[in-house]
Amino acid sequence: MIINLAYIAASILFITGLKRLSSPATARQGNAISALGMLIAIIAVLCDNQIISFQWIIVGIIAGSIIGAFAAKRVEMTGMPELVALFNGFGGISSLLLGWSEFHKLFDNQPSGVYERVNNLASIKYWESGTLAAIILAVVIGGITFTGSLIAWAKLSEKINSKAFVFSGQKVVNAGLLGTSLICGILFCYSNGSMLEYKYSFFIAVAVLSLILGVLAVISIGGGDMPVVISLLNSYSGLAACAAGFVIQNNVLIVAGALVGASGLILTNIMCKAMNRSLANVLFSGFGSATTSSSKKGEVQGEAKPIVVSDAYLILEAAQSVLFVPGYGMAVAQAQHAVRELGELLDENGCDVKYGIHPVAGRMPGHMNVLLAEANVSYDLLVEPDDVNPTMEMVDVCVVIGANDVVNPDARDDESSPIYGMPIIEVDKARTVFVLKRSMSSGFAGVQNPLFFNDNTRMLFGDAKASISGIVAEFKGE
Ligand code: NDP
Repeated sequence: MIINLAYIAASILFITGLKRLSSPATARQGNAISALGMLIAIIAVLCDNQIISFQWIIVGIIAGSIIGAFAAKRVEMTGMPELVALFNGFGGISSLLLGWSEFHKLFDNQPSGVYERVNNLASIKYWESGTLAAIILAVVIGGITFTGSLIAWAKLSEKINSKAFVFSGQKVVNAGLLGTSLICGILFCYSNGSMLEYKYSFFIAVAVLSLILGVLAVISIGGGDMPVVISLLNSYSGLAACAAGFVIQNNVLIVAGALVGASGLILTNIMCKAMNRSLANVLFSGFGSATTSSSKKGEVQGEAKPIVVSDAYLILEAAQSVLFVPGYGMAVAQAQHAVRELGELLDENGCDVKYGIHPVAGRMPGHMNVLLAEANVSYDLLVEPDDVNPTMEMVDVCVVIGANDVVNPDARDDESSPIYGMPIIEVDKARTVFVLKRSMSSGFAGVQNPLFFNDNTRMLFGDAKASISGIVAEFKGE
């Protein structure tokens, strides 16, 4: 009774926490409320003697804490998206292993001899209660999430090429694997009579097929579509946990898993809208692959015009309105504090300062929001592409800080571009554009950016933090 009340309290705190996460102003509070819910859930689980074995939990806590502390200490802020992708995968594999162990538990408690055991099993209530269906769901979704997340991790950390990898007949192969695993899953759940003997083989077949499917599903998605995959895998890890909750009949795991699954799907939908794509198109089109790539990659389309810090300062000093557009490079350079300082100096100088935030800038959802919040940039100054694009002609200077794909005009103008159709922040329409980056190299999608060669664009080469700090120093007369 008390345990169930604790689970209900934890669930209410999760839901309240999630609700508060929807606004930057209440997000920190939402995080704390959700963490409190998780603490209550963990204590309740530990007190529920039916489902724990203390020695293994202590081993798990020690091993997890060491790995977690090591990862948190070692991983750079720019490595966070990869780490999140990897953690999604860990969620998936734990659901798969849980399904596997529960299946063994059913077997191992039965009389010896496979045939007798499965026959005996057939009579127990587990078979009718849907537990087997839950086991197979935990295994399928967990398996796909695990290997899919490993591929996403490898792509994000550039251990493998981030482009989509497609081969002819890939869709047929994927559909075949999915169909076979569906049939094996149904046979696993409903086989009886002489087929009972093969239950375990069906189980293993489903597990192996789902691991292969995870690889094939994510390897064929690349370039600018990765944000959608990351949030989808996050959702899958929740759904796998939810199925695992049904397997071990733990209500709080079911609720928490369903919340992660549902919020992940909502985020996926938001990401799809940000990319101007449907989910089916992202998952099955192989966009951004070598075969669909524009031949313009790496092609020089004119002459880039460099600018030095002192000249950039003079132009900014005279500007009436400035729009900062941060991207992944700001995270690499950790330039957010210097950017905030420059924003304040411009504001004191009578300039209207805003920050244009693209939903897929950086390498994880909300990446730029997190960095700017860390630097105490006011939320009121953050604007979305739809708000800022219609008045872009009125902006005196756009300062693009380590952003590339999210300001690439080809996404709007060039139908052959792999990122065509992705909404962008249309900085090219501003009166003057400064692009802060270290070289002429391309962004995540691997495509050249014609913005760099426009008449109104000036390239401020170098590390973004050093460049911004240089302009700040000029403002201060240092
Ligand atoms: P991009 O990856 O397109 O470009 C980043 C740019 O930053 C590079 O061109 C790089 O140029 C520059 N840069 C790197 N380090 C520094 C530095 N120290 N100082 C200055 N510049 C630097 O980033 P965007 O944010 O524009 O776009 C995000 C891309 O990532 C999109 O394609 C998106 O789809 C994808 N993505 C987004 C995810 C998300 O959830 N937000 C998840 C996965 C992928 P140089 O090397 O010359 O300095």
